Amino acid sequence: MRKFLPKNFPWHFPKKGKEKRGKKDIIVCPECNAFYWYKSWHHSLEDYSELKEDKEIRFELCPACKMIKEGKFEGEVILENCPEDKEELLQFINNFAQEEQRRDPLARVVSVEEIAKGMVRITFTENQIAKKFAKRLKKTFKTKNRIIFSKKEKIIRIFCKFP
Ligand SMILES: [Zn+2]
Repeated sequence: MRKFLPKNFPWHFPKKGKEKRGKKDIIVCPECNAFYWYKSWHHSLEDYSELKEDKEIRFELCPACKMIKEGKFEGEVILENCPEDKEELLQFINNFAQEEQRRDPLARVVSVEEIAKGMVRITFTENQIAKKFAKRLKKTFKTKNRIIFSKKEKIIRIFCKFP
């Protein structure tokens, strides 16, 4: 379902957590064109005038694209009793995905799939994003939400039932 997700947004954000990479390394994500330099990910290499040409560039997937490629996720939302016509719902998901990626390029929708009749499963790179999505869904579609936390992992699963 990557087709729902736009590739290029003008983003720049500070990298979370510890990073062992050197200040001078440049890493370019071949999937979304994000590049990593001086402890943060930036949107497009061409826009970056400070960058000198003598720097070493490596190609490596950004953490979000890596998760998407490996099918890994931290948050899962299961939609139940979905309307037959899913156009509005898909538009809603698409808008949410774009907005989140613009805010933080690692905040992504990993997959969207119909797992049974009236049931759609959406996975996210971060559980906070799944929570935010479910909350927004409740507000827009009046869904009944129930969150299930996993004791072993940090993955959460949220069931959202349409009225
Ligand atoms: Zn990427």
